[in-house]
Amino acid sequence: MPVEEALEQLLKLAEQAPIAETEVVTLAEAEGRVLAEDLLAELDLPPWPNSAMDGYALRLSDWQGEPLPVSQRIFAGHAPQPLQPGSCARIFTGAPLPEGADCVEMQENVELLEDGRVSFLEPLRVDQNVRPQGQETRAGEQVMNKGTRLGPIELGLAATLGRARLKVVRRVRVAVLSTGDELVEPGLPLGPGQIYNSNRRLLASWLQRLGCEVVDVGIVADDLQITRDCLAGLADVDLILSTGGVSVGEADYLGIALREAGELALWKLAIKPGKPLTFGHYRGVPVIGLPGNPASTLVTFGLLTRPYLLRRQGVTEVTPLRFSVPAGFDWTKAGTRREYLRARIEQGRVRIYKNQSSGVLRSAAWAEGLVEVLEGSTPRQGDSVSFIPLSELLG
Ligand code: AMP
Ligand code: MG
Repeated sequence: MPVEEALEQLLKLAEQAPIAETEVVTLAEAEGRVLAEDLLAELDLPPWPNSAMDGYALRLSDWQGEPLPVSQRIFAGHAPQPLQPGSCARIFTGAPLPEGADCVEMQENVELLEDGRVSFLEPLRVDQNVRPQGQETRAGEQVMNKGTRLGPIELGLAATLGRARLKVVRRVRVAVLSTGDELVEPGLPLGPGQIYNSNRRLLASWLQRLGCEVVDVGIVADDLQITRDCLAGLADVDLILSTGGVSVGEADYLGIALREAGELALWKLAIKPGKPLTFGHYRGVPVIGLPGNPASTLVTFGLLTRPYLLRRQGVTEVTPLRFSVPAGFDWTKAGTRREYLRARIEQGRVRIYKNQSSGVLRSAAWAEGLVEVLEGSTPRQGDSVSFIPLSELLG
């Protein structure tokens, strides 16, 4: 199955199971959440024209080239008096323009005369250094759409609108299972044949960054009854996310348990790393089974599971930004699967990590992004390749 098709199917499945519940939270609590309402401006912002500079406000038609007396001082946060005809007002950045003024000259371009009058040294024009009323937004305009992910900038904008609380989609609850008899948690000694569980921490931290609530199930032994019991004990989650146990030829306990109490599809994706992927339902709860090798987990989570989870929260924009960069490597062997190489940009060219084994997570820690090498293609030094920054996938 081509990557695009898998993604399209997953997004369709996500749209069939939207997280419908919402909650109202403070801006401080809204970081990383998904907006569940359209945000409209209630006011013109700024509500009045104001000065973009420290300087002097005047009415241009009052000025015939002669110096003007200063009739008031206007600081930010204070209401001005109407401008006295034939005078100017000392004004500071962000202060409202007095009624009657239509121009601000910055203080660097004036001369203060001994009698207190101000001589304007440069030609002036109407609206100069004036921030018009409503330059950020007009009352009634839609400023943010439902389905927007809220980061620092969106929260800053909500604050600009005067919003203290926002309606957001409730967090997605994701159960994380690490299958494998060989797995041991960090901190414990390794026995013969054992390795440390990488994926549990990798996925739990990543899910938290995506605003999900993690139900941390830990290690699930390669045993049918244990797998059944584990699934049966999962109440009230929106997704069951497992790693391992989906390789061809392995006793696939998750698959067996799902066939008994649900349904499942086994996909062979044209993706490297990460060919096998399970999608199913257990008692109505969607299940995604990712391959166990950490780099495969990373790629299939980042490219397929992340957009699925975002779309379930109603996020419209789930496609990571990517850009074209000249290759700093020669790829000689055309593949039948789309490859995502762990890579970084050095001196304007993209370099790939020397060992692209799916079992090597250091490749991804070294990398700044993934280079996409299309099926059948053999990019050479200087050819354009598509680069997806890891920061796009992680946030
Ligand atoms: P599997 O799909 O269970 O056959 O796993 C494929 C490979 O990934 C094997 O080498 C496993 O040892 C490894 N693996 C599976 N789960 C994890 C995990 N949670 N952390 C690190 N490696 C894993
Ligand atoms: Mg396994």
